[in-house]
Amino acid sequence: MGTLDLAAIVADVGREMQSHRGEGHVADYIPALARVDARRFGLAVVTCGGETFETGDAWVPFSIQSISKVFTLTLALERLGEDLWARVGREPSGSRFNSIVQLEAEHGVPRNPFINAGAIVTTDALMAGRGRDEVIAEIRDTLRRLADNDTIDLDKEVAESEAATGFRNYALANFMRGFDNLRSPVEEVLQTYFHQCAMRITCRQLARAGLFLANGGVDPISGERVVSAEHARRICAIMMTCGHYDASGDFAFKVGLPGKSGVGGGILTIAPGKAAIAVWSPGLNEVGNSQVGTLALERLVAKTGWSVF
Ligand code: GLN
Repeated sequence: MGTLDLAAIVADVGREMQSHRGEGHVADYIPALARVDARRFGLAVVTCGGETFETGDAWVPFSIQSISKVFTLTLALERLGEDLWARVGREPSGSRFNSIVQLEAEHGVPRNPFINAGAIVTTDALMAGRGRDEVIAEIRDTLRRLADNDTIDLDKEVAESEAATGFRNYALANFMRGFDNLRSPVEEVLQTYFHQCAMRITCRQLARAGLFLANGGVDPISGERVVSAEHARRICAIMMTCGHYDASGDFAFKVGLPGKSGVGGGILTIAPGKAAIAVWSPGLNEVGNSQVGTLALERLVAKTGWSVF
């Protein structure tokens, strides 16, 4: 990695975050998520050269939540190719992650695959008539294979907790079904979506799983081609423009890398040609993105010069 001392940089960022631990507000609209210790902080960097650097709670599993949308988009793009774009757009929404306001004017076609409505359609497209168990297993097994770790699994309690309280997601799904943009039964699609969001993963596993996106679609460690170079570029472009909902512009401004956040407090970030970075701190800012996680990435990019700009 040139002259960068990544071990020292990652350790420095970890130290700098000590006094920030606990900042932000843990998501509580999914009751099972509210119990997480807000003071957790983990960071892992996996380079295209196969080295891993980590600090803090990088070995503690957390709820992947919306970061799962990167992996379902990857699978759906490989399965459907360009046909996917007839059902979901690729423009930033400028609205909250669970917003319904644009759906009516746009005939049930969500703005992008990373807001909830778009992710629900993407999951439906991936299902293509298959049952929920098969698709949930495919998503879990994909994460296991990409992270090279067979222990990755989902937290049933989080999935059930979200199913019991996910009224807005039910509203979004039913609304899109009314526009014929959902093919499988609403309950099947949402159960699949809630289970994909309930996968538990560590920073180290997440960075490893996303590494193919930093390397033109090929996992540089296993040599597996996960997606075409074109799809890898496009997934990164959507992460850059839409990965942080209505704060995507701010994330590009502060960090300058493709990233995807989740309400579990995780963020997967891609430094093209260099590394995948995963950070976790459960306290969220007012937009629903990890507050300390974003700060840590800002510091990491300032020290490494990895911004794409
Ligand atoms: N499962 C969450 C939801 O649908 C995911 C949202 C997120 O991580 N931003 O509300």
